[in-house]
Amino acid sequence: MPYDFIESPHKTSVESRTISFVVIHTMEVGERVGAAEACAAWFASPISEVSAHYCIDADTTIQCVREKDIAWHARGGNANSIGVELAGYADQQALDWSDEYSRGVLDRAARLTADVCARYQVPIRRLRASGLVAGRRGITGHADVSAAFHKSDHWDPGPAFPWGAFLDRTKRARSGAVA
Ligand SMILES: [Zn+2]
Repeated sequence: MPYDFIESPHKTSVESRTISFVVIHTMEVGERVGAAEACAAWFASPISEVSAHYCIDADTTIQCVREKDIAWHARGGNANSIGVELAGYADQQALDWSDEYSRGVLDRAARLTADVCARYQVPIRRLRASGLVAGRRGITGHADVSAAFHKSDHWDPGPAFPWGAFLDRTKRARSGAVA
């Protein structure tokens, strides 16, 4: 899938790696035009020392790190994951996640996640901290990685993130029902 690529220098290159899970984040950038570009620019900055593979807003998906490389997005869970940053805040409420802008973000994220899961045979299921610790595969949040490995206190994408709807959307995208 071709996406605009704004390369981040904050990554670890390895000979090969296994992708076991996708980590969903909120970028803590408000819902606005250019949010994905702003996040990618931060990851590209020499001082940020952070990155993710993808930044998504309502109308744009930008890749910042190649999937074969390790991005620096969720300490303790970076080595075998793909990091996806969504425009918005971890303290968004259910209503915020259902507005038109967020629906655009979640549609894009579902299509990308379905594609990633298909290519690495990752099951489309919610993976919580206990599953991460047990070495299971699936789709998780930064908060779950924090709870599993205790190397970060980040709690995104937040308690109101619509996991059920997002996983349903990802499954539909996987089966080709969503263009
Ligand atoms: Zn995060």
